[in-house]
Order: sequence, then C-alpha cells, then structure tokens
Amino acid sequence: MKKQLELLWGLQKVDLELKSIKEEKDRYPKEMKKLDEKQKIEKEKIQKEKEKIESLEKTRRQREGQLNLEQEKIKRAEGRMSEVKTNKEYQALLIEIDAIKGANSRMEEEVLQVLEEIDELKKDISKREKEVGMTLEKIEVERKKLQEKMDHDEGAWNEKMERREVLSKQIESKLFKLYHTLKEKRQGVGVVSVKNETCQGCFVNVPPQMFIEVLKNNALIRCPNCNRILYWDGDRSRK
Ligand SMILES: [Zn+2]
Repeated sequence: MKKQLELLWGLQKVDLELKSIKEEKDRYPKEMKKLDEKQKIEKEKIQKEKEKIESLEKTRRQREGQLNLEQEKIKRAEGRMSEVKTNKEYQALLIEIDAIKGANSRMEEEVLQVLEEIDELKKDISKREKEVGMTLEKIEVERKKLQEKMDHDEGAWNEKMERREVLSKQIESKLFKLYHTLKEKRQGVGVVSVKNETCQGCFVNVPPQMFIEVLKNNALIRCPNCNRILYWDGDRSRK
C-alpha cells in the first residue's frame, strides 16, 4: 500500500501541475487578443491623422483650382479693358476686377492656413509614428514572449502527460478510480497531505489515532470530513 500511496501522491502532484498549466494555457488566447487590440488601436491613431491630412490636401487642391479659375477671370476682365468704350463701363470693370482680387486674396489666405495646418500635422505625425513604432515594437516583444511561454507550456504539458501515463499504469485500478472520483468532486484534489493533524484539503482536524495511522502511509485512510485520501508527505511538513 505504501508504494501505491506514493505513486498516487506523485500522480496528484502531476495532476495539479497539469491543472495550473491548463489554466495558463487557457489565458493565452485572451492575452493574444489583447495584444492584437492594442496593436489595432495604435495603428488607428496614425490612420486617423493621415486621413485628416488627406482631407486637408483635398481642400487645398480645391482652393488652388478655384484660384486658378479666378485668375483666368481676372485676365479675361483685364483683356476687356481695351475694348471698353465709356468711362462707366471702365469703372464697372475695375470694380469687378477688384472684387475678384479681394476674393482671391482671401482664398490665398485660406490656402496658406491650410498649408500651415498640414505642415503642423505632418510634423506631429512623424513624431507620433515614431512613438507608435516604439509601442508596436514593444507589443511585438510581448507577443514573442507569450509565444515562447506557450511553447514552453506546451512542452511541459506533454512531459507531465507522459509522466501521468507512467504513474497511472502502476496504480491499482480500484485506487485509481477512487482517486479520480474524489478529484472530480473535490476541485481536482483527491489526495492530500496532513499537517499539524489537519487535513490540508478541508483544514479540519484529523482524530489523533487516525493521524498516527496516516503517518505510516500503510493504509488507505480518508479524511472523515472531505473524504479525500490522506497522505503523510514526510520531511517537508511538521507533525
Ligand atoms: Zn479533509
């Protein structure tokens, strides 16, 4: 029985390790998703600024196109100067030209403002691109680390599963089944150690006579409270 209990204790440890690896493994997809989202947000930051610049460039092109048309109008009006017959017509033409010129200078002012805004944004964006680039690099590093952890856990998982297989084969099927049933019912723990005469599964005291028996590891003894199999884990704990 002693050997059997030792094997079972070993199996319990492996199972707990597997459980914690599984918990880690289950977290990875979520963490990956978080990184993806972070990356997306960073990229969007730049995208929005670029879109703003594009829209300003469009405005600038439109205004410049309009300005060209207006310049043409002025030229045509000035061409008509030589054809005017009366002073009145001449005055009217001058007023017309002045009006166009006035409108044009306002538009030129506008174009200058847009250009300034574009310059500012471009300066800002190159700064932001550097920042975003750095953040993206950091995200990439995190992603690699996570991938490494995943690979490592995958390796550890396979290793433990093999160990589990080896141990399981050596345990009597009745005991193995009992352990499994208990494990299912008791949060993955079917075998527990005893410390200070207390079951480490439910933390209820074990009767002194029973405790003495547990210390021998010679018989299948179960906690009167939680039903788990009790095991004396030698040197590491105090009586
Ligand atoms: Zn207990």
